[in-house]
Amino acid sequence: MKALKYLNKYFKKYRYRLALGITFSIIAQVFALVTPRLIGQSLKVVEQYQKGQINDLADVKHQLLINIVIIIGAIIAAGIFTFGMRQMIIVMSRYIEFDLKNEIYEQYQRLSLNFYKKNKTGDLMNRISEDVSKVRMYFGPAIMYSINMLTLFIVVISNMVRIDLQLTLYTLIPLPFLSAAIYILSSVINKRSTIVQQYLSKLTAYAQETFSGINVIKAYGIESKNYDEFDDLANISKEKNISLFKAQALFFPLMILLIGMSNVFVIYFGGMQYISGKIESLSIIAEFIIYINMLTWPVAVVGWVSSMVQQAEASQKRINEFLEVKPEIENNQLNPNKINGTIAFKNVSFTYDDTNITALKNVSFKIEAGKTLAILGKTGSGKSTVINLMARLYDIDKGEILIDGIPIKEINLKSLRESIGFVPQDSFLFSDTIANNIRFGDEEATSDSIINAAKQANIHQNIADFKNNYQTLVGERGVTLSGGQKQRVSIARALIKDSNILILDDCLSAVDTETEEKILSNLNKLIHHKTAIIVSHRASSVKNADTIIVLDEGRVIQTGTHLELVNIPGYYQDLYNHQSAEHV
Ligand code: ADP
Ligand code: MG
Repeated sequence: MKALKYLNKYFKKYRYRLALGITFSIIAQVFALVTPRLIGQSLKVVEQYQKGQINDLADVKHQLLINIVIIIGAIIAAGIFTFGMRQMIIVMSRYIEFDLKNEIYEQYQRLSLNFYKKNKTGDLMNRISEDVSKVRMYFGPAIMYSINMLTLFIVVISNMVRIDLQLTLYTLIPLPFLSAAIYILSSVINKRSTIVQQYLSKLTAYAQETFSGINVIKAYGIESKNYDEFDDLANISKEKNISLFKAQALFFPLMILLIGMSNVFVIYFGGMQYISGKIESLSIIAEFIIYINMLTWPVAVVGWVSSMVQQAEASQKRINEFLEVKPEIENNQLNPNKINGTIAFKNVSFTYDDTNITALKNVSFKIEAGKTLAILGKTGSGKSTVINLMARLYDIDKGEILIDGIPIKEINLKSLRESIGFVPQDSFLFSDTIANNIRFGDEEATSDSIINAAKQANIHQNIADFKNNYQTLVGERGVTLSGGQKQRVSIARALIKDSNILILDDCLSAVDTETEEKILSNLNKLIHHKTAIIVSHRASSVKNADTIIVLDEGRVIQTGTHLELVNIPGYYQDLYNHQSAEHV
């Protein structure tokens, strides 16, 4: 129960709901008790009439009518209060589910990129869906039934004991067995249903991958191999399901069997006692049979609830482990008013944790605010790594990164990232309209400014050609943009954000050279007061940069302006000459 302690704060938060729920539950049980009492009493009246203790039939009828009316009233009242109880407790569990999901989601957003590389997407999704819903069962049904059971037990059993202690003891004998049997059965059901769930996610994941890779599958003609794999998975899944339903099918028969036994006990022992004259009226036996039937469900629930609580415990443990993960990138509160955009790397080295690849070795350079820096190099030379470090997506191992002369770790993360317009290497668009994809991060952007940004990124004409213009949906249910179009939408997104630092990570790779030139010349007009970092593998595209650094295997091998570099033999010159030749 240790893990579930974490949730006590929610009980505190919703204490009024919970208290009201408990009160309603007690009231509902008290009303429910009226029925067996009055049925017993009615039978007694009939019995007395038969024995001649009451003479007037009209009196009996009158008495029975009154009882019926009271029973109906009590049942309605019990129903209303049961409804109220569910409203309080089940609704509370939904609120808590909501809170918990938000708490987990916030933590997801705090955690740094390294965390996401170490954990599988499926696991992350499970935490927020499966695990939370198991925990909700603890707050909802588990608590509700426990309260129900407790109140019913106290109310009913005290009543039974008052009527006849011995008979009470006899009739309660099968109940613990019922509880234990249900507990064992529920545990089996839960285990099997977890397995079924696992296979279901495997099946969905497999189907999903097939759908996204359908063009590769068809192009390679491997449909039948693909089908066989799916068929195997589906078969295992079917068997697991059948084994689950076998266990589930036992649940109600088992309950009915044990309830039946209790009834037999009441009738047998009650009958014996009546014959020996220990109880004076058969109506007591009738009353007891109703009590027993009122008790069986809560007793069965004891077993069910304990297995629910166990599962919630396991789920909450997983959730806690994850909530306790500290984001690797710590946020500091030093909050510069405005970041101008002078960036300096001093002997920076960086190794990726998971692959142990040292992506940067002793990298140093400096760029003044408002200037343009170009980073050039082959794939894998460490260009994107430099960029990621500037946005502090990772923390460096050695050396120092200074922004406006302040160590990057001392700058508030939010203000750092707000001052950067970032176009990552693989442009990601959300399944939303093009306008919203550009507006991303700036809710107040007007449609004029969106169009303006799109024009600067040279994508406006393409968008205008779509039937729904800027309201065109991209992604799954909308148009599929080409690589170059995506890159340009992603550039427009960075441009609309009026930041002092603009970073373009190889984001013109899928654009033809002519369009690239246009975009770059638009940018040159825009960025004269911004610090711009342009990553490219084409030397021709960075001619106008104030400083060019050339990276190779994580080291800076050349630094200078275009004019300085173009005559030094080496990578830059090779690249430039090769491209110039291409142009001719
Ligand atoms: P570039 O952008 O110049 O193509 P990168 O900076 O992306 O190069 O990569 C530099 C090196 O670091 C490569 O060897 C690459 O395999 C490795 N690397 C890049 N990103 C990661 C990552 N997220 N995790 C582990 N290794 C990485
Ligand atoms: Mg890269």
